[in-house]
Amino acid sequence: MDGVVQPFEAEVGRVLDIVVNALYKERAIFLRELISNASDACDKLRYESLSKPELLGSDPKLEIRILADPNTNILTVKDNGIGMDRDELASNLGTIARSGTARFLEQLTGDQAKDLKLIGQFGVGFYSVFMVADKVIVRSTRAGQDKGWIWASDGRTGYTIREDEEPLPRGTAVILHLKDDAKEFLDAARIEEIVRTYSDHIAFPIILEAKPKPGETRTKAHEPHQINTASALWARPRSEITEDQYREFYHHVAHTFDDPFARIHFTAEGALSYTALLFLPAHRPFDLYDPRRRHGVRLYVRRVFITDQLEELLPRYLRFVSGVVDSEDLQLNVSRETLQHGVVVQKMRRQLTKRILDELARKASEESTPEAGTPNGAAKKNQSYLDWWAEFGAVLKEGLFEDPDNRERLLELARFKSTRGPGWVSLAEYVARMRPGQDQIFYITGENADALRTSPQLEAALAKGCEVLLLDDPVDEFWLNEVKDYQGKKFVSLTKGEVDLSRIAEEGKIETPDELYDEDLKRLLAKLGALLKDEVKEVRLSRRLRESAVCLVADEHGLDFRLERILRQHHQLERLARPILEINGRHELIRRMAAMAKDPGQEQDLAELARLLLDQARIVQGEPIPDPGAFSRRMSTFLARGLPAAA
Ligand code: ADP
Repeated sequence: MDGVVQPFEAEVGRVLDIVVNALYKERAIFLRELISNASDACDKLRYESLSKPELLGSDPKLEIRILADPNTNILTVKDNGIGMDRDELASNLGTIARSGTARFLEQLTGDQAKDLKLIGQFGVGFYSVFMVADKVIVRSTRAGQDKGWIWASDGRTGYTIREDEEPLPRGTAVILHLKDDAKEFLDAARIEEIVRTYSDHIAFPIILEAKPKPGETRTKAHEPHQINTASALWARPRSEITEDQYREFYHHVAHTFDDPFARIHFTAEGALSYTALLFLPAHRPFDLYDPRRRHGVRLYVRRVFITDQLEELLPRYLRFVSGVVDSEDLQLNVSRETLQHGVVVQKMRRQLTKRILDELARKASEESTPEAGTPNGAAKKNQSYLDWWAEFGAVLKEGLFEDPDNRERLLELARFKSTRGPGWVSLAEYVARMRPGQDQIFYITGENADALRTSPQLEAALAKGCEVLLLDDPVDEFWLNEVKDYQGKKFVSLTKGEVDLSRIAEEGKIETPDELYDEDLKRLLAKLGALLKDEVKEVRLSRRLRESAVCLVADEHGLDFRLERILRQHHQLERLARPILEINGRHELIRRMAAMAKDPGQEQDLAELARLLLDQARIVQGEPIPDPGAFSRRMSTFLARGLPAAA
């Protein structure tokens, strides 16, 4: 198959098109991407050489070289790192292995500005070379192997791979045949500027060797020379690192090019010694909910890269964090398996988690200062904590059941939608606003907060002036199962069990359901109970309704509706529990039905109305009704009776 063109995977073609078009103005980033890959390749080799020193052979100094030749229009970025064998070339450069790719492509709109932001979150990596080159050749020799390989592509049709007759001793050279409009990237000054801007933090030396342009005389500037600082960024004093350098480092570790929301850089000394430089992204990564998603924190030991696969380093609910942790305590030759269960890693995990939550708390408190609290933060330059919460809150809430040790802190950080308004509220704010006599936190769960606002189950609570949290993330069902209260105030679902609002003060007197409980209603309840016994567990008088005639509630000891729906969707629940039908004794319809229940001649109508009521309650609940045809016939019949007779 040598020389035969292999087509790119379908997704690669689309990503290439998008990249080349959308990023044109920022095309200098191709160099950053290549240097970033070269640096990772050097990191990987240094790690492998810990157990196999022979891999370094006679060439132990890892470095990156940029060769610019204006005579041939060729720019080469070369490293003596780990290299790739034939299969790796095909799978790394011919496919986009990133798990979120398909979703990324779906989200593209064709609107340049918006797409650019999305691409920023996605990171385009190697493919950015096709913005500047119309032919790209990658020569690579995997460390420890004799054979080398040549990958070549024009970025359109596909790629070829063949054996390299004169293989590199080790590592990878990316050889770019620059497009006519991209010759600026052969200019030594331009290259130096780009590297200083984007890649100064790279810990390996970057050596530039630019040949003189045709007609130019060779000077000292054309001698190979190092153009970056080449010291690990995180190990430098914080005061000497600029915002730009931090940002570029974030781009390198997170494989994106947006701006981070927060940064945490500290050195721990004492029982454990390590330096951490962590970033929280501003926008959700595409694969945040992909089960394969891992945090992006790389572990180093005394500046030597060890692994970017150490899941144990952070809890899963912080899987959006990226950065570096550099330990002074661990052994260099520690195996990844030993690390997973080691006490050093466990301790670091606790401390890192604490630092991240501290930083979030700080951001949250900034937000609650009056100045920052302008509506929607329109005038604010930085992303607000609330905007950030809208992106990441659902993931952070996983911590409420995964990480009991930090539960209290997470509850303080959590923000919720509520009946009070369109914005977000904290639990502390909720509690501060509780009505006299209220000692519970009321909530309702469902798919959509705005639809929940008008749920009949909220009516009595709202009439009493109570605020209700509107919880519309699927994860809410799971943490509410574990977390029973906040500051001693119980979380109470308004769609489940009995709700007692009697002790909550209210202006104006309104009859309690008990006062309404007369003989007629008793009879009606008994009849409805009998008529609907196959579908509902019980029919009872409601304490939560005010305007609506009916609603459904879940059994006190059963599952709440939303959880039941989720479990059903995941086929973890076969049969549904029968709900409870609550009726509003004050409602005109119910009063009239109570009167009907006295008259044996109206049994038939009562039975029809009972079904209508139940279906109505299901509809409000967002539940499907079992027989829509029958529902519609019944409704038409009763509507017709209520209208004046036709002339
Ligand atoms: P990313 O770096 O975000 O994973 P890229 O498209 O830039 O995506 O690169 C794809 C993969 O190709 C890398 O993950 C790496 O495995 C491999 N690769 C790229 N450049 C090199 C290189 N210089 N040396 C070794 N492997 C490389």
